[in-house]
This record gives sequence, structure tokens and C-alpha cells, in this order.
Amino acid sequence: MSKVIAVNAGSSSLKFKIYEVPSEDVVASGQIDRIGIGNSNISIKYGEGQKFEDVKDIADHEVATEFLLDQLNTLNIITSYDEISGTGHRVVAGGEVFKDSTLLDEEAIQKIEELAEFAPLHNGPEARAIRAFQKVLPGKPAVGVFDTSFHTTMPEIAYLYSIPLEYYEEFGARRYGAHGTSHRYVANRAAELMGKPIEDLKIITCHLGNGGSITAVDGGKSVDTSMGFTPLAGITMGTRSGDIDASLVQFLMKKLNITDIDEMISILNNKSGLLGLSGVSSDMRDVEDAADKGDERSQTTLEIFYDRVRKYIGQYIAVMGGVDAVVFTAGIGENSGRTRAAIIDDHMSFFGMKIDEAANDTRDEAKISSEDSKVAIYTIPTDEELVIVRDTVRLGNINE
Ligand code: ADP
Repeated sequence: MSKVIAVNAGSSSLKFKIYEVPSEDVVASGQIDRIGIGNSNISIKYGEGQKFEDVKDIADHEVATEFLLDQLNTLNIITSYDEISGTGHRVVAGGEVFKDSTLLDEEAIQKIEELAEFAPLHNGPEARAIRAFQKVLPGKPAVGVFDTSFHTTMPEIAYLYSIPLEYYEEFGARRYGAHGTSHRYVANRAAELMGKPIEDLKIITCHLGNGGSITAVDGGKSVDTSMGFTPLAGITMGTRSGDIDASLVQFLMKKLNITDIDEMISILNNKSGLLGLSGVSSDMRDVEDAADKGDERSQTTLEIFYDRVRKYIGQYIAVMGGVDAVVFTAGIGENSGRTRAAIIDDHMSFFGMKIDEAANDTRDEAKISSEDSKVAIYTIPTDEELVIVRDTVRLGNINE
């Protein structure tokens, strides 16, 4: 039996999900955190609800990878390393280089490292994890699946900022977007559910998680997306501000006596969004609870969140000259029927969008628009790891 591992490496963490192919059954999943910090928590879920947990010092991604594969053997999840036919790696920044998922050779790994200036916290650790897996599993195909690839089809008018063109030409200063794997998956799934070729459809995908982005998918291709040069742009997120006027950065730095721009950007990335607005939490469930208990700040926070999503949906209807389907996904999009209804109801009726209240009371894949809605509305659980595994099978020529 052949298995493929989907790997998502962060600066101090390594998350994984192991699939049997071709059945696509998940045989194990888990994570190792606090890599290089000390007291790493190791957690592996497998079998029929079994769980392995341990705490030990894991020095780096190579040690993490070796420990993980050893443990998979000990727990009989695999009987030998030979059973693993490939690894697929999530990579945050692919720049303009990686237009599709790619079989990773030394040159490609070096490119990923070079692109680290676009995602300083991500590409470096991801490249380290790729090298670690290659060392432990020599000769097995490793495939990079990039958050940005799906958006490389955006036209110039969508990805260029209105700043001197030389900055794009010389430094690559442009919109790249993110969450591409998720947008690609749910857009294709929506087309399947509609029984129509994606080439004939205009779809707006709303990935509303801790991070969030909205994408206009015209004929199966991303033509615009709300995240920008980095994931800081776009809608209100858990801790990210989303779009703001750049001059506010200068103004606030003066007011707060901040001289280090990194500190200011960190406030916009980590202390803003739902957290900064509500003062309660970055977690939508907490903000909803506080709002229900009468906290006015949290009520306003929810309204701002809905407003920003609506505005992007409106923009993208204009960008594509219409819309056939709107899709909600990720933690908030999949679980909060209340958010979906608040975004669509009333405000979107002008566009002929109507939610079916009963159908919307779900956390599963479902069509949630009413019979008379002109636009189909879906909630579709995203599955980025499955896309990573499918791309690894496709590009690694894994056939059993
Ligand atoms: P990440 O971007 O970290 O992968 P997720 O996609 O898991 O995040 O989304 C996390 C968000 O989903 C949190 O804001 C969380 O509150 C929200 N969420 C999860 N379940 C619910 C729920 N039942 N109702 C409202 N929000 C929820």
C-alpha cells in the first residue's frame, strides 16, 4: 500500500497528514510544535481514534522529520519507509516563478529560498523541511504546492499597484495573493456540484478562516484576489487589519513613538482585525458570544467583518461582469451560518442572491441558496492537504 505525506512547515512547527493512495483515505495526521524552542509537543492521530502524544526537545526540522518517520514505524502506521511514495509540501510564496505545483529539485528548492524575501517567516522553514524529508526519504518525489500559484493567472490590471512601474519591474512589488490552493479546490468543487464546466462559470470564493481572502474565479482562473503583496491586505481577519491607508502607518508610528517599521507591521499583522477591534479575541466564536451578551464593541466588529466581505463580493461582480456562484469556506465560512447569512441577506438581494435559512443551518458541504436565488451559494469545506496529495501523485508519477 502506498502513502503520501502532505507537509505544512512553519518556522517552529511541522503539521502533516498522511493519505493512502489511490483511495485518498487519511491514515494519520498530527503536528510537532516548538521546534528549536524546547519542550516540543508531538501529537499523532491515527487508526480508529487512537492518539500518540509526547513532549521532548526537537532541535530542528530534520530531527522532527526523523522522529516523525520513526514514530510512524513504531506505531505501525507504516511498516517501512518504502511505503511512502512521496511528500507534498505547502509553500507560501511562489512569486512569479511557480505557476503550478512543481516537482522539487535542488534548483527549485533554491528558488523557494530566494523567494523568502516575500514571506520571511515561511519560505525558509519550508525549504528546510523539504530538505529534511529528502534526506530521510532519498529518491522519493517531493512536490511543492504554492499558495500563490493559482493567482498567477491574474491579469496585469489586477496585480499591479498604482505606484511607479519600475518598482514592479525591478523588485517584484505587486499583488501575489494567498490561499490559492483552497480557492482552487472550492471553486472546482462548486463547478462539480453545479454540474457545469468551470470554464463557463464566474465564481467568487470566500476563504474565511483566521486569515481570510476573497477571490474572483472566472472560467476556472483567478482574476483577482483580496490579499496583496503579503497576506496583510484585504478583508478584516483574526488579527490582521486587512486594507488600510498606507499613510496611517506613518501617522501611527509618530503617535506611538515607534521607529521600527517592523514593529508597526507586526501590530497590523498580530494585534488588529477581530482582536484589535473587539478587544475580546481573534476567534470569531468568542466575538459572536460577546456580541450576543450585549458587548457593543463586538457587535460593531461583526458588522465591520461582514461589510468588508460584502465589499469584495461587490467588487468582484464588477470585475467579472457577473457571478454564477458564491462559495464560503474555512473555519468561519464553513461553521458560521450566521456569518454567511449576514453577508448575503438584504445587502446582496439586489444581485439576486438569497439564502435558504434551513439549508444554511449546516457545517457540511451544501447548497445554501434558495430555489429562487439567481446566484448559487455554497458552503464547501476546504481540503488543502488533499490538493497537495493529488498534485504530488500527479507530478510524482505515483500510480499505486
Ligand atoms: P486558520 O486560518 O488558522 O486555518 P481556520 O480556517 O481554522 O483558521 O478558522 C479559524 C476561525 O474559524 C476562527 O475565527 C474560529 O472562531 C472560526 N470558527 C470555527 N468554528 C466556528 C463556529 N462554529 N462559529 C463561528 N466561527 C467559527
